[in-house]
Amino acid sequence: MSPRQKAGELRAADAGKAVLLKGWVGRRRDLGELIFLSVRDRSGLVQAVFDGARCPAEAVAAASEARSEDVVEIEGEVVLRGEGQRNKELPTGEIEVVAKRLSFLARSETPPFVVEDRTNATEELRLEYRYLDLRRPAMLQNFVLRDEIAFRVRKVLHERGFLEVETPMLTRSTPEGARDFLVPSRVHRGKFYALPQSPQLFKQILMMSGFEKYFQIARCFRDEDLRADRQFEFTQIDLEMSFPTEEEVFETVEAFLVEAFAAAGIAAVRPFPRLTFREAMEKYGTDRPDLRYALPLCDLSAAAAGSGFAPFEKALGGGGTVRGLRVPGGAGFSRKRLDELTEKAREHGAAGLLWMKRAGGETSSPAKKALSEAKLSELLAAGGVEEGDLLLVVADRESAAFAALAALRAEAARELKLVDQSKYAFCWVTEFPLLGKDETTGQWFPMNHPFTGPREEDVDRLESDPGSVRARAYDVVVNGWELGSGSIRIHRGDLQQRVFRVLGISAEEGHERFGFLLEALKYGAPPHGGIALGLDRICAIAAGATSLRDVIAFPKTTSGIDLMTKAPADVLPGQLGELGLDPPRRSP
Ligand code: ASP
Repeated sequence: MSPRQKAGELRAADAGKAVLLKGWVGRRRDLGELIFLSVRDRSGLVQAVFDGARCPAEAVAAASEARSEDVVEIEGEVVLRGEGQRNKELPTGEIEVVAKRLSFLARSETPPFVVEDRTNATEELRLEYRYLDLRRPAMLQNFVLRDEIAFRVRKVLHERGFLEVETPMLTRSTPEGARDFLVPSRVHRGKFYALPQSPQLFKQILMMSGFEKYFQIARCFRDEDLRADRQFEFTQIDLEMSFPTEEEVFETVEAFLVEAFAAAGIAAVRPFPRLTFREAMEKYGTDRPDLRYALPLCDLSAAAAGSGFAPFEKALGGGGTVRGLRVPGGAGFSRKRLDELTEKAREHGAAGLLWMKRAGGETSSPAKKALSEAKLSELLAAGGVEEGDLLLVVADRESAAFAALAALRAEAARELKLVDQSKYAFCWVTEFPLLGKDETTGQWFPMNHPFTGPREEDVDRLESDPGSVRARAYDVVVNGWELGSGSIRIHRGDLQQRVFRVLGISAEEGHERFGFLLEALKYGAPPHGGIALGLDRICAIAAGATSLRDVIAFPKTTSGIDLMTKAPADVLPGQLGELGLDPPRRSP
């Protein structure tokens, strides 16, 4: 018998060829003496014909028994379709296979949904029957792309001398700041392993081991509240280098991102533009700006000063700011739309939203009466407002003003159709603050993790003005998504101890949690730095998927359940006993 033929690869040039197909039955059209089956395998789909005039009667009889998702073996001959019968939508649409035999390799029950790209099945059903969902060609393609992306990333890094090293899954708490998944130890009763939130400390240790360049496509675990774009376990392209400059990290990452996105036909233009954190906030209100469109924010604080307008006075008096967003041609926004935008600004923490419009040579604004003619003109001029424009203004704490205007900027871009969906605008954001301050406790916390290095010129202010210290940290961003973040690390024990002190981590606590790292720093640690990028996110963007779940083979729902295996699940009482754990108390 001829070897198996890939169904999706048959073309007109194969006409006359005897073939053996093995695959799943898709659609069946039964016209009595003439039966059409579509046969699907990983390569695609082809039509098989069972024709009373051309095929043995047993083959036609077998085909009449065939149902969707049966696994079949079909022998036949490739035949050109008649002119009117060709299907331009299908790569194999110029031919069909006239069958002479069909055998069933496995039968299928009626599937809960039709295995086709267009599906009405709910995501719950798709996740419960994930094996059927993954048979859908569009889903399969996502994994073909994911494989290609991971392969290209590995290739670029391997060629540049990065060593792929696996780090432990059973470890102790790592410093990313999320909640850990804990695994009880059977042998050491009462003690726990933690699943790694990232390989952070291990990759730093590998630099101290002299490996110089490490990478890993690493699984990470964070027990955080799930959102559409978050999973408990996710995959990072994790890397670390010894003696690097920021430039060398950027160069490496850009090199593999260009290759990775090219796998999906997406051109990433190098070098990626750079913005400091401050520039990104001032201009776009966010540290992950969408650079597919301009719409920059403006600072109206100087123009708003001395206006006597209560919201401006309050914000400026309290150390806040007055910021604006000029929406070119936005004078046509309806009152309803402006109310919605106000609501949006509030959702993002702003106390309110003020608008001003220029239309027909007139200015309209709810604040028109409260502001002098001159102040109004000054504000419009500071915002660069022209005839037909809208100016959205937020007076608040800086963080609230930026967050609200960033959200409004995205809304306005959508509304004005400024977002070119075919564009991928990459950038680096640099010079993040090293530390953030918890408003309620007054406690400093690391913006990334406590091993991030401060900029040399700011180190002196670590104790006196911690909030002003910039980190040697960077993020890589595309179209408003953060793809990854990293930093040049602290490689000197004394500096590490100072940062711990500012963070309120006592010597004992530092020793208890990260003692092995502190110890390793004593034996000659090279300067080092690295980055981690979300592979799931990269694949979702490259595949044009709306959810990370579409590029993860067996994802969990937003409530953390695997609907196929039904994890998390009960375990046998004996298993708990072995681990020295009490059975959970259930409510009666
Ligand atoms: N470990 C960091 C993270 O997972 C990335 C890095 O600093 O390299 O966010």
